[in-house]
Amino acid sequence: MKTGIGLPVFPGVSIGPAVVYRKSERTLPVSSGDPAVEQAKFNAAVETAREQLSALFEKAKVELGEEKAAIVEVQMLMLDDLDYLDGVALAIEGGAAAAIAALDTGEEFAQIFAAMDDEYMNARSADVRDMSHRLYDILCGNTGFQLPEGSFLLVAEDLAPSETIQLPRENILAFVTRQGSSSSHTAILARTLNIPSLVQSNIELEDAESCQILAVDGFTGTWYMDPDEQTMAMLKAKQAEAAADRAALEAYRGRESITKSGRKIILAANIGSPEDAEAAVAADCEGVGLMRSEFLYLGRDTLPSEDELFEAYKQVGQIMGERPVVIRTLDIGADKQVSYMGLEKEENPALGLRGLRICLTREEIFRPQLRAILRASVYGNLLVMFPMVASVWELKAAKALCAKLRAELEEEGIETKDVPIGVMVETPAAAVLAHELAKEAAFFSVGTNDLTQYTLAVDRQNAKLDKFYDPYHPALMALLAHIAKSANEAGIWAGICGELGADPKMTEKFIEMGYTELSMAAGRILEARKIVCESEL
Ligand code: PEP
Ligand code: MG
Repeated sequence: MKTGIGLPVFPGVSIGPAVVYRKSERTLPVSSGDPAVEQAKFNAAVETAREQLSALFEKAKVELGEEKAAIVEVQMLMLDDLDYLDGVALAIEGGAAAAIAALDTGEEFAQIFAAMDDEYMNARSADVRDMSHRLYDILCGNTGFQLPEGSFLLVAEDLAPSETIQLPRENILAFVTRQGSSSSHTAILARTLNIPSLVQSNIELEDAESCQILAVDGFTGTWYMDPDEQTMAMLKAKQAEAAADRAALEAYRGRESITKSGRKIILAANIGSPEDAEAAVAADCEGVGLMRSEFLYLGRDTLPSEDELFEAYKQVGQIMGERPVVIRTLDIGADKQVSYMGLEKEENPALGLRGLRICLTREEIFRPQLRAILRASVYGNLLVMFPMVASVWELKAAKALCAKLRAELEEEGIETKDVPIGVMVETPAAAVLAHELAKEAAFFSVGTNDLTQYTLAVDRQNAKLDKFYDPYHPALMALLAHIAKSANEAGIWAGICGELGADPKMTEKFIEMGYTELSMAAGRILEARKIVCESEL
């Protein structure tokens, strides 16, 4: 038996076979030197790609829904695009190997699409690139990532959002990665899927490849390879206990979250996509307290268009019906980077251009997002919230832009609602100034992850500083109490959407402070409801 540690991001125990994910190491394409042979190779690759994509399309339809599956369909159509096929043929005539011709022509088209003054075509840039990479892989004999049938624990150096999106979620028992932080996409996905997972672990990929059984204890942050009898018995007992706890919580499904003395608390879910919204409804959430919009921007090569954003927000609004949905505007920067925005590399990204700061300096990015939210507002009960606010003027500027865009949309004959605008309180400045911000905001939601980082001056990404990253620090508690008091005095509601919102030790304390909403990974909602319902407060 081998054992090691990692940073646990969701409690529970998983036991099963390990599958190691490695990014494909591409072999170099070799040209035969004969254009006719290369063209024949290319034609055969197109047929293989067509078969792969049509299988993927059927799978995506079932797992992700018609709309996401359409991405695959677009790529299938591109395989027949005469301009692309002619471009490849020309490159082959000129002496290029089939694989290089497929890749370079794809890149040329991707760049042309990205430069067009048309949002739909901009979005196709990533599709043509993806499709040409597929042809390249086929021509180079790269078979890609082979997943086994059945359930497994996924081990990787790290997982990018574009990679996690393609995973068969229902088969994954746990993630164990060597990198990633507790707020990484892998961690957030693990919480959304309710699977015990470890990031920043000391697991070796080679060892995981040769082990028969891998076990993860998400309570203690421990992994075991081929556990001995005694360890296995201990893990199985923990697993049974966790299953029994989960079953007991089912008694709270469908109940109102109300304390014994009648305080009503909204227990909401943190989500990143319309699919997560469906899972949140299944987990009996009373709303969405944080939709992390940046997941609509990650794992792609171009900015999402206003229409794409609108569709995602509309879908979430419709799935949630009357339940409130707090949409956080783009929070790119710091740990969440996208290459296509052309943001400069910073010495100190956590203190750099991030969150609302990007939105207020790059209006071309903010505008389509706000327009999309306003357009979607008539399809649900949407609220909007700005991240990384530090000054009252920032909130006023963002609100003014919202008002301007709403007027613009009305002029265009597009119906919108008066969407309540709130502040994500996650900088010490916003916390201290909560009474001032409350005059301008419709609600507060506290991002305890960043508020802890900025108050204690401890990088939340740096695992070596774990013992200094203390979200229960008295300074944090004082700020949290001040934020709730300021909100209550101003007559607005306050919630918590950082990781601390899901902490059962804190639930009653937050209610006592005056918070009326707690937003968390959907899988934690019933546990929180039990505490609320049993509370004497
Ligand atoms: C937070 O900072 O607490 C938060 C919820 O936002 P994120 O983790 O996405 O920064
Ligand atoms: Mg934050």
